[in-house]
Amino acid sequence: MLDSTHSEDSINETSTRPEVGPAYLCLHGHFYQPPREDPFTGHLPIEPGAIPYANFNEKITAECYRPNAEEGNFEAISYDLGPTLASWLEDTHPDVYQRIIDADRQHMARYGVGNAMAQAYNHTILPLATTRDKRTQIVWGLSDFCHRYGHDAHGMWLAETAVDLETLDLLAQYGITYTVLAPWQAATPVDPSKPYIVRLFDGRSITVFFYNAPLSGGVSFDWDTTSNADLFAASYLPEHLVQSKREAGEPQLILIATDGELYGHHKPWRDKFLNHLIHHGAPDYGFEVCTLERYMGLYPATEEVELRVPSAWSCSHGVARWDTGCECTEGDSSWKGDLRHALTRLAERGDQLFEQYAGETLSDPWAARDGYLPVRNGWETTESFWARYGKQQRPPDDPLEVQRTRLLLEAQYYQQYSFTSCGFFFEDLDRIEPRNDIAFARRAISLIWQALGIDLQRDFLVDLRAAKSWRTHLSAADLYRQLPIVRHDQLPPLPLPLLLDTDEQENIA
Ligand SMILES: [Zn+2]
Repeated sequence: MLDSTHSEDSINETSTRPEVGPAYLCLHGHFYQPPREDPFTGHLPIEPGAIPYANFNEKITAECYRPNAEEGNFEAISYDLGPTLASWLEDTHPDVYQRIIDADRQHMARYGVGNAMAQAYNHTILPLATTRDKRTQIVWGLSDFCHRYGHDAHGMWLAETAVDLETLDLLAQYGITYTVLAPWQAATPVDPSKPYIVRLFDGRSITVFFYNAPLSGGVSFDWDTTSNADLFAASYLPEHLVQSKREAGEPQLILIATDGELYGHHKPWRDKFLNHLIHHGAPDYGFEVCTLERYMGLYPATEEVELRVPSAWSCSHGVARWDTGCECTEGDSSWKGDLRHALTRLAERGDQLFEQYAGETLSDPWAARDGYLPVRNGWETTESFWARYGKQQRPPDDPLEVQRTRLLLEAQYYQQYSFTSCGFFFEDLDRIEPRNDIAFARRAISLIWQALGIDLQRDFLVDLRAAKSWRTHLSAADLYRQLPIVRHDQLPPLPLPLLLDTDEQENIA
């Protein structure tokens, strides 16, 4: 448990010495793993690299999620738990899952606000998504959060902190009041020791917290920075305080935002570092451990900032890292643009079919897609779903129409998965993450084939041929062909590679 006595003492101490402004410390952990379940079976394959564990989710649970949950670290930090990871954890390690969820409830009971943030559902780079997909990602993320935590989310973590104004405006429209960005995402230099207001459309606005970049980088990437929590609090933290604010008695915040997995997985035993820092190191050296919504309540943002958009925390070329490719990853990254083109063309075709055919039974297929997650996951009854979204406010009489609508909604679900950012993050195409995005796209193709008998596989394979690995020279179409075999009636017949070549086709014709 958090040592409240000590924390309150340090506040009282500062209040009797008004010349020393209070210093707050917030540690935000972004807890997330790329989904790697086979979309046809729902099972995580054995991952030899994770030995002695069956897969990396198990390994990271043992090294990070479990110890941090059992040591009570989630109760004091700010955190987001990716929906796809939360689902796996809930099924596989319900005790760990419950502790993480309860941490937010305890924080709320104690401070009146939660400390968990929602996440856009599929870790999609939202500035690269269509408006409609942005909305679905946000609505699904919020719906998932509300189901798990039992209250609406007020903060949302954006995948890779990738942002544009439309994304922020949609967040604001759905009741989100704050998010976290890197300081270089501001158009002008900012003071990261305070939150800012970003003005949006139609009078809306959102608060952004800029994390402390040198400290977040040090905690993430430098081994020595996190070797001793007392030393960290005594020497690293004070260097980042704004002295003029200290002297003027003004409050300030040091926000350290990182991937959550570094606490124990990327860096062994850093769960202990975190635990000691929040319970002893920070309070002993005059820092009040705080969370973001709580800080906003104490000291609301007053100054406005303009953002550099689109931008993200791990690319210095806008969001090119996940789009056309850029120098942030080594080698020839042009495969990224080709893969994105193939996935986008598939999604456009899938969307047309969804609108046309699901529109026969649903009054507004896109609103129904936004509302699909609860019924899919059994949090809402099918009767209630059809009452809200069905053309006749009830399921169609023909069970085949019900089945077809369900398959088309499920195709949309996997289409969303196919844009998981991890597929574009790394240097090469011939890796597990791009393979997974292709596998999710294949699942969408399969569902459309089963629903309508329409073959989207052939054109997708033609488009995938353009994306090539600079390491192994395999194309994305080769990766598609290497995916696990499925029952023959689940996919259109696979064309011969020769027939995918346009020139050859013309010759044959
Ligand atoms: Zn870049």
